[in-house]
Amino acid sequence: MSEPLIYDIGSPGRQGATLPVCDVPITPIPSELVRANLDLPEVSELQVVRHFTRLSSLNYSIDKGFYPLGSCTMKYNPKVNEDMARLAGFAQLHPLVDNEGAQGALALMYQLQQWLAEISGFKAVSLAPAAGAQGEFAGILMIRKYHLDRGDTKRTKILIPNSAHGTNPATVTMAGFVAVELPADANGDVDLKALREACDDTVAGMMITVPNTLGLFESHILEVVNAVHDCGGLMYMDGANMNALMGVVKPGELGFDVMHYNLHKTFSTPHGGGGPGSGPVGVGEKLVPFLPGPVVTISEEATGDEEAPLYAMTMPPKSIGRLKAFYGNFGMHVRAFTYIAINGDQGIKDITRHAVLNANYIRVKLQDTYKIPYNRACGHEFVLEGHFEGVENIHALDISKRLMDYGFHPPTNYFPLIVPEALMIEPTESEDKATLDGFIDTMKKIAAEAHENPDLLRSAPHTAPVSRLDEVRAAKQLVLCCRPIPEQGG
Ligand SMILES: *Cc1c(COP(=O)(O)O)cnc(C)c1O
Repeated sequence: MSEPLIYDIGSPGRQGATLPVCDVPITPIPSELVRANLDLPEVSELQVVRHFTRLSSLNYSIDKGFYPLGSCTMKYNPKVNEDMARLAGFAQLHPLVDNEGAQGALALMYQLQQWLAEISGFKAVSLAPAAGAQGEFAGILMIRKYHLDRGDTKRTKILIPNSAHGTNPATVTMAGFVAVELPADANGDVDLKALREACDDTVAGMMITVPNTLGLFESHILEVVNAVHDCGGLMYMDGANMNALMGVVKPGELGFDVMHYNLHKTFSTPHGGGGPGSGPVGVGEKLVPFLPGPVVTISEEATGDEEAPLYAMTMPPKSIGRLKAFYGNFGMHVRAFTYIAINGDQGIKDITRHAVLNANYIRVKLQDTYKIPYNRACGHEFVLEGHFEGVENIHALDISKRLMDYGFHPPTNYFPLIVPEALMIEPTESEDKATLDGFIDTMKKIAAEAHENPDLLRSAPHTAPVSRLDEVRAAKQLVLCCRPIPEQGG
């Protein structure tokens, strides 16, 4: 399908701007500042509006359809969050205003710190990190500083299961540690024997995602935590999968020392193009002094029931420092606060229960059609294999592309790395049964097509504005111009 370019619809002399009658003397622009050869399309206002409206509708989003992108928790972003974040008192607050002038914003941040700590069973929370990956970085820097602060300089390694998200080894390396990979056992859990062999006094800690990236709750999580603690290491939990635990399991009570939250996953703030991210970190007792700052503290308790306490911004005594300008992505704090406030205790539990139920529903309905490795009760997501016995040359990517023809966003492809042709499916709690059934039927239909007419899958998508791109090149060499760029030499 060929999309009309705005250059194709322009014609000389058309314009979209209506300027008021000039009420000052007209002065000619110096000729050296005027260019006659500007290659811009000349279009009317209506043509511009249609052009950009059409472009905007080419994007796929959660507001348009089902988005089962595993590990990313593409849940619905309630519009009330947006209303709250746009309240003038929040949106127009200048970041340099003093504490006295920002008491409302500080009260909100303080409450959010408390709620996140309560949800995860941690002692304290800092809202500073701007993404999950930055929360990871903060967490590992805290572990590093904790050991150095005690004069323990031997610890150079962080243990990471082989199912880990790519950001985990990247974080560890950036923080100056060596990442040591641990194998999984036959059930998809951490291999306890390999873990115990790896634990010694050179281990600074371990990073682990719970439930893991196969969507499975580690059956021996307490043994894992204890093994690392016994050799003097600290436990980092990658909290990206909190949508499977919230209101049900508290990582702090499992013994974790530090964890990041992804507000743009679990707590319904938008991803990427919808706004910046937010990756607060929660910590147990040992790491409280090392939190990135500033954090919001109470500087003066309320004197009576009608009074509010006074809030201040404080740097923790041994803080790893600042991670970004000002106080984190405050607009996201407002949205996450709104989400938690509206859902309350019971709502938070229900979110998790429905997310887990939805994932298990799809898993069980698809288990006779697709191979599901480690097929046991999952958390909020599960991984199946996107290929079929007896069908040559059909890959996870082909199934994903074919799903687009049916109006669904593809699941996550080829992650985790330990499953061949991985398709990681995370429905979230946002979807109703009719949507899940529609997706299940489509997945079965695609499996039938793979056997009967595999070329349909290989040539998909057939309805998208562009077909198969070189995804790496497309991401690295963005074409942001609306006119095709001539091929560069070579
Ligand atoms: C999303 C994710 C991250 C990184 O979070 P960002 O907010 O994208 O930086 C880390 N680990 C896991 C398991 C994730 O799914």
